[in-house]
Amino acid sequence: MNLDIVGDDLKVTLSHGEVVRFAHLDYAASAPCVRAAADAVQDLLPRYGSVHRGTGVRANASTLAYELARDVVAEFVGAGEEHEIVFTRNTTDALNLLARSLPPGTTTILFDGEHHANLLPWPNQLRLPTPSSPQEAIAALHQALKTTRQAVVTITGASNVTGEVWPIRELADVAHAYGVRMIVDAAQLAPHHPVSLTELGADYLAFSGHKLYAPFGAGVLAGRADWLDAAPPHLAGGGASAVVGDRPGEITWATGPARHEGGTPNLLGAVALAAVCEALATADRDALLAHEETLLARLRDGLATVPGATEVSVFGPGHPRVGIVSIALDGRDPAEIAGVLGRDHGVGVRAGQFCAHPLVRRLTDSAQTGTCGAGTPGLLRASFGLGSTADDVDRLLAGLRAALRT
Ligand code: PLP
Repeated sequence: MNLDIVGDDLKVTLSHGEVVRFAHLDYAASAPCVRAAADAVQDLLPRYGSVHRGTGVRANASTLAYELARDVVAEFVGAGEEHEIVFTRNTTDALNLLARSLPPGTTTILFDGEHHANLLPWPNQLRLPTPSSPQEAIAALHQALKTTRQAVVTITGASNVTGEVWPIRELADVAHAYGVRMIVDAAQLAPHHPVSLTELGADYLAFSGHKLYAPFGAGVLAGRADWLDAAPPHLAGGGASAVVGDRPGEITWATGPARHEGGTPNLLGAVALAAVCEALATADRDALLAHEETLLARLRDGLATVPGATEVSVFGPGHPRVGIVSIALDGRDPAEIAGVLGRDHGVGVRAGQFCAHPLVRRLTDSAQTGTCGAGTPGLLRASFGLGSTADDVDRLLAGLRAALRT
């Protein structure tokens, strides 16, 4: 119940007039809202007020709800004494915050297949070519760390292009062996797998509420407090400042999460996100995963029989992945095919380069594929999660088969 999708029966009128249930297969961009998030927001709406400011029942209830949300998220990521939870706008915001919190002189080691949110913010980068196997990734990281003195490593938990799960634990062990911290972009991992800082071996985790069934604009940066407390505030302003003198520069900045949560926080976003974390924490994650695996196998088996459509991967077809599959289309424009799927079949997917241009360029170089818009290489991506059904997958496959025949 708590994890039921709000709007699961959304209807759409197809180009030929038939009305069908919309098959949303773009969870990786933004997942639909679950009941737990909607209920939490609904519950607070009549009572909400300012957070960390003001008195009275609304302010008190709001401050309490906000800090409880932080505690729930802390538990969700297995945070310890040394960690803190900062509410951000989204993953992009969280990683930008962290990038500006690195000790001076730190080199960030990463692979070039990252989403732009984990590719662009880092100031001094050592960008390694995307490896073709987990073993190659581990060897490349070893090599890089041998020659880089002061470093941090940042890697996605699961690729937003191929859905492939990166060997985070193993890479974190390598980083730690060199005394280096590990950052995990968990935007695509958190909606599908438990994300414990300790179990992943991560020092920092970032993820977005809107991809975790809580579409109210909050994200999370969870991780070690020391760098965050020493960094300039993410947003200078009220809340981030403890004492402000009369002259410019006479400021004592707050420590703890407040330092980076300047301005009035997004209470409803944080509460919605925490409600989903709580619902997931008590759900049967193995059953959810098994459902997803079944859909994934159905989609991948089906795709193998669609002429002109080829699934892409970095680590090869046998590598574990979350519910994301990107497809190269022989000589066809993925944007055009995505449009046909929406108009004629009521299926929502994504076409293009998914904010991971270097990786998609690499994958499309090695696949015979169409272009997306003015000669730009592109793929078609289907992604799913809670609320996705075998019928959604079948409609995608039938629609794709029909669209590629014309
Ligand atoms: N990291 C990955 C792997 C993503 O897939 C995305 C979004 O698609 C992001 C980061 C950025 O997330 P947001 O747009 O919520 O900041």
